[in-house]
Amino acid sequence: MNEPMNCLRCGAQLVRLGVRTFQLGRETVAFDPHVWEGGLELEVFGCPSCGKVELFSGKVQAWAAEYECPVCHHRYPRAEDRCPRCYAKREE
Ligand SMILES: [Zn+2]
Ligand SMILES: [Zn+2]
Repeated sequence: MNEPMNCLRCGAQLVRLGVRTFQLGRETVAFDPHVWEGGLELEVFGCPSCGKVELFSGKVQAWAAEYECPVCHHRYPRAEDRCPRCYAKREE
């Protein structure tokens, strides 16, 4: 997320406010709770002009859906408990 982004409402350039982890449940985040267990990490951007806040989840895909093997760096689904390529056990 390096591209400058503009506010959809007024066109001013958005300012990055940081990364927040949202706990699922009460937050109205439209993702499957089975995929996003534990919390959802979102980048928060705000418009300095009109105050609109935008949330971006660019990092979440890799974070939640895949695990990278520390041994061979093969990426595999988090549902697996060991690497299908080198059989190294996941360290979590
Ligand atoms: Zn704005
Ligand atoms: Zn591996």
